[in-house]
Amino acid sequence: MDNYFNFSTILYVEDEEGIRKETSKALERYAKELFVAKDGEEGLALYKECNPDIVITDIKMPNMTGIDMSKAIKEINPEQAIIITTAHSESTYFMEAIELQLSGYILKPVDKILLKNKIVEIVKNLQIKKEFQKNKNLMEEIANLQNNIIIVYDELYEMIFANKMFLDFFAIKNIEEFIKRYGCIESAFIQHNDFYFRNNHGINHWLLEIAHYNDKKRIVSIIDHRDMSPKSFLIKTKTIQASGHKICTFTEITTMVKEKEELEKKAFIDELTNIANRAKFNQILDIEIKKFKRYKENLSLVMLDIDYFKSINDTYGHQVGDIILSSLSNLISSNIRDVDLFARWGGEEFVILLPNTDLQSAISFAEHIREYIQEYHFTNNLNITCSFGISEINEKDTGENLLKRVDDALYRAKRMGRNRVESL
Ligand code: GH3
Ligand code: MG
Ligand code: MG
Repeated sequence: MDNYFNFSTILYVEDEEGIRKETSKALERYAKELFVAKDGEEGLALYKECNPDIVITDIKMPNMTGIDMSKAIKEINPEQAIIITTAHSESTYFMEAIELQLSGYILKPVDKILLKNKIVEIVKNLQIKKEFQKNKNLMEEIANLQNNIIIVYDELYEMIFANKMFLDFFAIKNIEEFIKRYGCIESAFIQHNDFYFRNNHGINHWLLEIAHYNDKKRIVSIIDHRDMSPKSFLIKTKTIQASGHKICTFTEITTMVKEKEELEKKAFIDELTNIANRAKFNQILDIEIKKFKRYKENLSLVMLDIDYFKSINDTYGHQVGDIILSSLSNLISSNIRDVDLFARWGGEEFVILLPNTDLQSAISFAEHIREYIQEYHFTNNLNITCSFGISEINEKDTGENLLKRVDDALYRAKRMGRNRVESL
């Protein structure tokens, strides 16, 4: 028990000299250091100066009562441990003392054992609090050392902790400022690729939604307020079963995501012509067919092939052939809508997928392109022509069927003399 006594500093306030001297003698043994004052005013001044762990005070005193002094002290530190010594005659003050939420009341004349026990109780509590604070500080230091964003929610999904990285990232000073500005973190997520994005239709807390996702879908994009650029994060969450606390870490993976996107882009782009390649076309065709099955909007496909291209290569060389392929791609690219997909099918064959376009419109479009190509002067002042096959999708079509029909139509255009548009 003794080790509790050298722990705390005590401020004792009592106006009656006899009691003061006697009680002080006992208190000296219980405290690491004892400060003594003879009225509320002196007590408050000493409190401000010495910041003691425990305050023990009489109620009725000249200049300032123990109650008024306690009120002033609680304003400085609402957590301050205060014990009041009261005489029966002072029971009118009792209600006020209760309201102040003091740590204890001891009747006068002060029973030394009772006082000692009370002090031990308070010191124990203070030690627990200090230990807790120490652990909390340690945890915060560890969290602040991280390059990741770390936030903690309580069991009611209220954000109760955010590390330094989080505050820096959002250019804010504390959680309150964050809540004021954003309300919640999910409203800071921005739309990017197929990353997790919280549209306002979600009923559950975003943490609950994301908990079921795999790593690939637990990626979000957020604006970094230090340089106003979007950054990508992988989110991990952990619920502490005992307390219901939810820990969230955001690991930055911006560079990785960018590299992956670059690679993906390359995998879908034709190197010579810089337009979409066959893999990209197949991917989009799949999506457009699914859309067609659901919304029943028209969808047409055009395939074109350069006429007698082999002879151009043979006469002017492969390099000239390459330049022509490239120019032709530019020419067509600048004559289609944003929604159309233009891709190199392979060699000197191209495809154009036309959403919201019926067969007649597709034919007029192809005629327009055909004439445009025919009139155009390519490198070496060369002229080329193209043959076109067209078809519109129908209810029973798969991508393969549609492509087969378009290919047949193109073959027919070739057979019927080239530089023409045929449909099936
Ligand atoms: P048709 O009117 O029947 O289509 O005749 P064509 O000569 O265009 O057809 P064919 O299939 O006989 O020849 C296609 C030519 O396209 C042969 C090939 O060298 C050329 N070609 C395919 N890819 C490239 C390429 O990337 N660069 C160049 N320069 N030529 C290519
Ligand atoms: Mg050809
Ligand atoms: Mg060909």
